[in-house]
Amino acid sequence: MQRITILGATGSIGVSTLDVVARHPDRYRVHALTAHQRVDELAEQCARFKPDVAVVGTAAAADRLAGLFKTKGLTTAVEYGEAALCRVASSADCDAVMAAIVGAAGLAPTLAAAKAGKKVLLANKEALVMSGRLFMEAIAASGATLLPIDSEHNAIFQCLPHGYGRVPDNHGVAKVLLTASGGPFLHRAVETLENVTPEEAVAHPNWVMGRKISVDSATMMNKGLEVIEAHWLFGAPASQIEVVIHPQSVIHSMVSYVDGSVLAQLGNPDMRTPIAHALAYPERITSGVAAVDLVKIGQLAFHRPDFTRFPCLRLAYEALSAGGTAPAILNAANEVAVQAFLDRKIGFRAIDRVIDQVMERLPHGELSDIGALLEQDLRAREAAQSFIQ
Ligand code: NAD
Ligand code: MG
Repeated sequence: MQRITILGATGSIGVSTLDVVARHPDRYRVHALTAHQRVDELAEQCARFKPDVAVVGTAAAADRLAGLFKTKGLTTAVEYGEAALCRVASSADCDAVMAAIVGAAGLAPTLAAAKAGKKVLLANKEALVMSGRLFMEAIAASGATLLPIDSEHNAIFQCLPHGYGRVPDNHGVAKVLLTASGGPFLHRAVETLENVTPEEAVAHPNWVMGRKISVDSATMMNKGLEVIEAHWLFGAPASQIEVVIHPQSVIHSMVSYVDGSVLAQLGNPDMRTPIAHALAYPERITSGVAAVDLVKIGQLAFHRPDFTRFPCLRLAYEALSAGGTAPAILNAANEVAVQAFLDRKIGFRAIDRVIDQVMERLPHGELSDIGALLEQDLRAREAAQSFIQ
């Protein structure tokens, strides 16, 4: 029986994870569920999965949750705040942690799981983008297992040889090819992008996801963050990570080998496939996702990405090349700019302009420790705010 903590249980990935877990009650038991604000949804999840602990963001939310538990007759303990998130991520009562909080808020608990030697199922790409080398060192030092949930990285993981040790050249890997749908604005006239609304930006053609990652997909910052994520997960330099636009989202990514072979993982665009893969690895379990019907799809298309349409992708490659704290600055500026766009304070194209200005203004430094990293994160958020107001 594997005992699981789900960080961000009420989000898109969290709900899909519980869907897979519910199909295999003989294999999985939930140790803890966490949510930031959606107390009612969390209470319903707890009534169904009966975790030992539930964690929310604030004391007020914890009071409300405890009240709901009382009426439901639930014995689940209620905690709140970041320290509680770190406790449930590193507890001796859990074996695996689904890291599915969105953004930098997930860094501390995800790192706590890594340090505690857990099986870390990583959806929260921002945590790895920010902390890069420090995160990978924590995984190596504790002997934790790191399994990618991001569909592209999960696909690449599946296409790499067993025992791949993060050195592409040792295994004849020439390139990893990250596929990208291109999002909702792939064919929209570039000059009209300034005026797109949050509703248009979050309407992804193939995937149903949280609002932040949906905007990231529209700017292609999501793919940029994934390039950096791939660098850390697979040890590939930027020159060996290529982005290919593939609008159907059927091929989730590929690995190109020196002998000319290209291996791909295909499937319907449903996150329950990578979630089930990582939960059961190295076994295979049902996920509720049907096999892809290739005859129905008929054709698969591929294009090169256009950096003029998607400047965020260029900015991410630049941050990866700059190294150190540059990816953390990129990530922080992006989080602030995306929130401002969702709050209708800035236009869509201002997202890449704000990030560009922050990257220019803030000198990036060495990624020496988490304290220095959080300091840079804060500086970048302040700088981004100053360009917004
Ligand atoms: P979401 O917005 O649907 O859910 C986010 C979850 O995080 C919620 O449970 C929320 O309560 C929690 N949360 C938000 N802010 C928090 C805070 N400050 N403190 C603690 N908890 C907080 O997001 P999502 O789409 O499920 O994405 C989650 C992560 O997975 C992101 O990092 C995203 O990039 C990654 N991811 C998502 C998908 C997808 O299909 N949705 C695919 C690949 C990767
Ligand atoms: Mg992805």
